[in-house]
Parts: sequence; structure tokens; C-alpha cells
Amino acid sequence: MLAFAAAYLLGQYDGRAGNESLLVKEAIAAKKKPLISPVKARERDVYAPNSETLAPDEMRVIACGTGMPTTRAAQAAACFLVELGNGDKFIFDIGSGSAERISSLQIPYDYLDKIFIGHLHADHFGSLGEIFIGGALMGRQKPLRVWGPSGRTPELGTAYAVQKLKELYTWDLAGRVGMVDFRGYSIEVNEFDYKAENAVIYEDNGVTIRSFPAIHALDGPVSFGLEWNGLKFIFGSDTFPNKWFVKYAKDADIAVHECFIAVPALVKKMGFTPEQALVVGTQIHTAPEAFGKVMQQIQPRMAVAYHFFKDFDTTAEINDRIRTTYDGPLSLAEDFMVWNITKDDIRVRMAVVEEHTWSPPLVTKPELPQKGDREKYGKEMGVPVKSLGYSDFIKGGRWGEVDEVLRGVYKEASEKLGRKFEYPTK
Ligand SMILES: [Zn+2]
Ligand SMILES: [Zn+2]
Repeated sequence: MLAFAAAYLLGQYDGRAGNESLLVKEAIAAKKKPLISPVKARERDVYAPNSETLAPDEMRVIACGTGMPTTRAAQAAACFLVELGNGDKFIFDIGSGSAERISSLQIPYDYLDKIFIGHLHADHFGSLGEIFIGGALMGRQKPLRVWGPSGRTPELGTAYAVQKLKELYTWDLAGRVGMVDFRGYSIEVNEFDYKAENAVIYEDNGVTIRSFPAIHALDGPVSFGLEWNGLKFIFGSDTFPNKWFVKYAKDADIAVHECFIAVPALVKKMGFTPEQALVVGTQIHTAPEAFGKVMQQIQPRMAVAYHFFKDFDTTAEINDRIRTTYDGPLSLAEDFMVWNITKDDIRVRMAVVEEHTWSPPLVTKPELPQKGDREKYGKEMGVPVKSLGYSDFIKGGRWGEVDEVLRGVYKEASEKLGRKFEYPTK
């Protein structure tokens, strides 16, 4: 098993990497011309978003955030996207910075409406506001749906956090209502009992998602299990190794679990005192050795470790420490790592993404703002309807000399599209 693991890490397991040199070597040995052409294109073993059809029995998992609360260019915070061959898509955790990664995948936002939050640390839901507002702006014409755990009091639960997020965005939303299709600018929250053990929290279209408790910082955190078509995806938000994960993640096809920065690196690179490093690195979170122990117990077809800064000088230490306790298939995750999973195969690649992405195609046609949107919103948020819009003071500050050039823009649009667009007079 260890030899298999070592070979896997070297990229030689599936025979793709290293193939060319082997063919060239064989050709040279046989005194033949090498089979590899210097000019002919060869297949690249990367995932280019929006370029592959998912087979009906296939699951694709993409890491959209694998790092730490302090996001950096190389790594956003916790987020994993699961795409299924039946067309369903689910987001597990939406950590800070991850909305940007998701945008690179060019998936229409109407399909990105289901988010499962494992706990309410910012590095696991800090991008919720971005995908809420930005997703609606880029074409999600329906409410964002969020599932998350309760806490020991209502203030410590997901419904409270989502309500406060909506309140935080009062000015933002008040400035949009009545101007745009407002259907996407709402959040549906589904809070469930954090103590529930392997309870079904979602069931639709052949997909079942269950929740079980985790141990981290306060009561409330959970892990998730998604089952579909005989495949099982497990996602652990943060946790100290816990008995529920060991029990319910057993025999997962792919098990994602946090694996924190090793204690010596916490001291050396993050400036923690040894006391702090030991508590944070082994008691609040899961140390690499403990991650390995959990995986050795549950025996997934693929173990995925995340929640560490993956650098040239940290990766080997994480790997070595995991390998003291676990010898099975392992991915040390980084942003844009991709797993294609079927019953017979798990293919691991990196995605190569475009950074300059625009909005993906719309799924649902946008509507004009509905009459009564402002009244409805004002009532819900306790904002007087007359304050939704400009005051006479601000209206009076419009500099009229630009009207002429802007009328030109309206005229141009009217001519090009063969429709009359009236320039607003007030
Ligand atoms: Zn946390
Ligand atoms: Zn975390």
C-alpha cells in the first residue's frame, strides 16, 4: 500500500504522467524514431472548466478554497464544489475568497443556488455575501438556498447569521430593489439541529445529504455526507477528530477532512508560541498525524486533506506526518484541484482556469422589476418606502451638461435595436 501511495504521489499511478519519456526511451532502445511528434498536439491532463461533459454516473469535485482564514492569492478559504451527472451542483462551505474561484468555473449562477455551511467561522462562510449579491447580479434569478447548523442558542445558529447578513446588506439591497429583477436577491435558510446524527437534511432528485456533529470552538459545527448513485462524498468542516466522522464517513468514495498546519510550522512561520501552536494545531483542529489516523480507520477511496498553506516548504512535512498513520490514497488539496469520481476510477487533476471571466450564460430570462418590489422589501426590512430612491437634495445635484451625450447613447441603442428607448427626464 505504501508503495502504491508513493507512486501515486509521484504521479505515475495512472500511467499518464511519465508516459512520453517511457515511449521515447522504448523507441530509442528499439532504434526507432520516437513516436512523439515535436509539433503534433497531445492530450493535456488538466481540467479546463466548461470543456467536459459529465457522464450520467460521474461525480466531479472541485476545490475552490483550501487555505486559511487569511486568504492569499494562491489559496482562498474552505470551499468544495460537487457536480453530479444528474446536473445537480452543491457548494460545501463558502469560505472567504472562494466566490472568486467559483466564478472561474463559468457555471451559470442559477445552478449555484445550494450552499451547505459546516460552521460559522468566517473562513467557512465569508464569501456568502459575495455569492448572494454577485450571483444574483450575474444571473441567478432565484433565491440562494443555505443549509447550516443551529447553535446552543438562536444567536449562535445559521438562521441568525443569514438574517444579520441580509441586514448588513440593507443599503446594498435598498439601492437595487425596484431597479432590477429582484428574484435572486433573497436567501432561503434551512437551519437544522447540529446534534442530529446522520440525519437527512436534504433529499431531492436522487441526492441525499446528511449531517453529523463535529467538535470545534463551540457547539454547532457539523460534517456532511452526500450520497448519490452509489457514490458517497464526505465533507468535514473544521473539527477535532470525532467519533461521528469515523462512523459515518466509513467507506466514503471521497472524504474531505481538515488537516491543519503542522505544529512546528505554526511556531516557525506563523509566530505562534509553542503553547498556542499545540492547542490550535492539535486540539481545536486536526493535526496531520490525527488526520491520517482518521483516514486509516474509515478507508476512503480517496482521502483529501485541506486547511493548510500548501507551499514547497510545508507540503513534505504535512505528507510525512500523515504517512506515519495512513497509507491509503491521498490528495493534499490546493485550490482548483479536481476529482472525477465513478465507481471504477478516481481521476485527480488540476483545473487550468481563466481569470478574466464574464457572466456565464443565463438559465432563466431576467424579468423587469415587479410593481410592489420596493413596498415588499421596505416592509420586510423596516425601511420606509419613500427613502428607497434619491432625495430631492441628491437629485438636484445631477450635472445636466452630460444629458446631451447620454441622450446619444440612448439614440444609438434605439437605432441599433429598432426599439425606442426614452431618455429619463427626471
Ligand atoms: Zn473553524
Ligand atoms: Zn477553518
